[in-house]
Amino acid sequence: MKYLTDLLDKDKMSLYQKYMTFDQGEKIQVTYIWIDGTGQNIRGKTRTVNAQPLCIAELPIWNYDGSSTYQAEGSNSDTYLHPICIYRDPFKKGKHLLTLCETYKYNKRPSESNHRNSCRLTMDKVLDQEPWFGIEQEYNLLDTDGHPLGWPKNGYPKPQGPYYCGVGADRMFGRQIEESHYNCCLFSGINIGGTNAEVMPSQWEYQIGPNIGIGVSDELWLSRYIMHRVCEDFNVICSLDPKPLPDWNGAGAHTNFSTKTMRETDGLKEIERCIKLLSNRHSQHIAVYDAKNGEDNIRRLTGIHETSSIHKFSSGTADRGCSVRIPRQVAEDKCGYFEDRRPASNCDPYRVTEQIIKTCLLEEI
Ligand code: ADP
Ligand code: MN
Ligand code: MN
Ligand code: MN
Repeated sequence: MKYLTDLLDKDKMSLYQKYMTFDQGEKIQVTYIWIDGTGQNIRGKTRTVNAQPLCIAELPIWNYDGSSTYQAEGSNSDTYLHPICIYRDPFKKGKHLLTLCETYKYNKRPSESNHRNSCRLTMDKVLDQEPWFGIEQEYNLLDTDGHPLGWPKNGYPKPQGPYYCGVGADRMFGRQIEESHYNCCLFSGINIGGTNAEVMPSQWEYQIGPNIGIGVSDELWLSRYIMHRVCEDFNVICSLDPKPLPDWNGAGAHTNFSTKTMRETDGLKEIERCIKLLSNRHSQHIAVYDAKNGEDNIRRLTGIHETSSIHKFSSGTADRGCSVRIPRQVAEDKCGYFEDRRPASNCDPYRVTEQIIKTCLLEEI
């Protein structure tokens, strides 16, 4: 793995560091971040504002060339950026900021890849039930040639077994990236719950949440931006492909969900009621649980490698081969949350969480 310091020679590195210390006065750099037309890639651009914004409404609405992000035709390309939340920028540090944005078309309608607008309207209907979500983001680290990080260039590492939560130079690839990302998220103010090394070598996971309603999705998208940005510095690629290699574990975004009723005494009954509703709506969920209407998850949800079959809904306690799992502790306490294991690593969490609310709490399709 080549580090930034290997790529730039030392003189250039110290020049860069010198420029980065220059006093910025009252001015603040704000990087506007948005989801592009692929529904899974993230873009960002930066502007100067004159003073620290006291609330989100003080950040100006901005725009960009949507024809260069698969979001508009060249002849009508201005697409609007509406800031929705502000976090500290861990790359520029100091008082500089990141802002996640929703995208709107020339006619003020949400762009095709803006699923936040509809998710927010759905969440607003059920706020009295206090929905919490926690999402486990799995990802794979690759060399810039697309080869898994740290794997022999000809052949494969030893079979899966020693890597999950492992330690040691012969089995852990990219820990510095995982740790840098963790620190960046906490610096920014993102509610990152923890991290672990995964079953496939050079695959990792971090968890966002539990957060109320839409907050988990906002923070998951920001944390993905931060991950890609950290990886850029390390000259490594972060892949959210749900199944990079056929014979190895894929990458998911297990989505954990609870309501106030589920978290209270005998909440297990409410969990079981929701699982029944989920079992009736399997295909509607699969259609929004990856970035390609189910096509990516076909490669991942095979029924092996700790997954269920994409064709059939299943549920169980402590069973990682099910669509939906009730954690053992939850079964013992008779209250808590459940885990939907179907969402893929490249899912749009706005779509996933909205569908869960519709099925479980609104009983709409
Ligand atoms: P595992 O790998 O065993 O599936 P993790 O510890 O990686 O479990 O993830 C558990 C997730 O469950 C975390 O994202 C956490 O935020 C979430 N979580 C814990 N309690 C709740 C709850 N009451 N409601 C929703 N999510 C929860
Ligand atoms: Mn996990
Ligand atoms: Mn995992
Ligand atoms: Mn899990």
